[in-house]
Amino acid sequence: MNANVPSEENPFEAMQARFDQAAERLGLEPNVRAILRSCEREVTISLPVVMDDGSVQVFEGYRVQHSTSRGPAKGGIRYASNVNRDEVRALAAWMTWKCAVVNVPFGGGKGGVICDPFKMSKGELERVTRRYVAGIMDILGPDRDVPAPDMGTDGQVMAWLMDTYSMHQRSYLPAIVTGKPISLGGSLGRVEATGRGVMLVTREACKHLGLDTRQCTAAVQGAGNVGLISALQLATLGVKVLAISDVHGGLYNKNGLDLEAIRAHLQKHRRLDGFDGGTRISNAEILELPVDILVPAATENVITSKNAANIKAKVITEGANGPCTANADKILDQKGVFVIPDILANAGGVTVSYFEWVQDRMAFFWTQKEVEDRMEHIMVESFAAVVDMARRFQVSNRIAAYMLGVNRVAETTRMRGIYA
Ligand code: NAD
Repeated sequence: MNANVPSEENPFEAMQARFDQAAERLGLEPNVRAILRSCEREVTISLPVVMDDGSVQVFEGYRVQHSTSRGPAKGGIRYASNVNRDEVRALAAWMTWKCAVVNVPFGGGKGGVICDPFKMSKGELERVTRRYVAGIMDILGPDRDVPAPDMGTDGQVMAWLMDTYSMHQRSYLPAIVTGKPISLGGSLGRVEATGRGVMLVTREACKHLGLDTRQCTAAVQGAGNVGLISALQLATLGVKVLAISDVHGGLYNKNGLDLEAIRAHLQKHRRLDGFDGGTRISNAEILELPVDILVPAATENVITSKNAANIKAKVITEGANGPCTANADKILDQKGVFVIPDILANAGGVTVSYFEWVQDRMAFFWTQKEVEDRMEHIMVESFAAVVDMARRFQVSNRIAAYMLGVNRVAETTRMRGIYA
């Protein structure tokens, strides 16, 4: 493969393609460019785990720190059967740019374990988690690397992580991880934070474009932490959510879905199948619906050169990380779709993770209103900064967000100098 042509489906190459465009527009010097283009540290471990039937299964796990220039590495842990190292690298780098876009003092990291959490018992999940944490313990720490949930992990997994780390360090260290249950030092508003951030930037985009949200329709791909909450939050703006999906397919109702009933159904059954308030549609169809707002909130590479021309939404708010490929970007730009890029759109999560880390370190906890007000302020300001950058440099919102983030990381990298 020609190294200059990114393969459309490789997220790390897609990240580098966008980074290169931003670096070019910023006139970034070659040294800093070379440093920021690759990951600082990568750990791969094998995790032997005793399964419930007594057999031993050996899983593969990763932790990647892309940059710690602006602060401890920060980023989630993904449990999925198709997770791979390049995906984790890309996710780690996206965290670096994202934290810089919203200007929170973190670098970027990400972790993953190749496993199917839906096919494992609670005990098996706990043993995988504790073994994974023990395997990467040396690079973790409240001032080194602070994980969080991502696809396939949740507050319970974070609680086991916090417990394993604290046991080994012989101290109570809740700031080692965010996205924890409230009783363990979690922050009010963290569960809703990413979806609420998606709503806030979509609201700002509609204002910017002169769209009345009460007249808008939306489709949401993904019905997990980000997707379902984004849908519920958009509804608070008067947006009519016509469709939502999970990995098994979607539901569509031209009059709008009953999202509270869907939430209750998901709590009980963990999947959308069997909900009778809409007709079934595929995950491919949901992306091409004639709606005003599209929120891809499931996974990477769902909008590509193959389907980007068929997208009808005026606004795409990227709840997921990397849902549009670099080739899709070009087509969406030509069509004039207003894309709110992932490193801005889903940054509400890491913003409240930052608040959680601050609260844990102070051992002093904020009210939900304090969390929400501070987060809204950051999201609204960051949206304005990205749109302003796009206008000044005549670039897409995505490249503008990269420019904003990359420039901040470049500045600290330069100031710290190269330790030789
Ligand atoms: P989750 O596991 O809670 O939910 C994922 C949802 O997507 C589920 O409904 C699942 O069925 C569906 N899904 C999975 N694969 C799919 C596929 N191939 N096609 C269609 N649907 C599919 O995960 P989450 O935390 O909601 O994360 C979703 C995305 O948002 C990921 O890209 C993640 O990196 C990103 N993200 C999450 C957070 C957070 O705070 N949780 C923050 C920022 C970004």
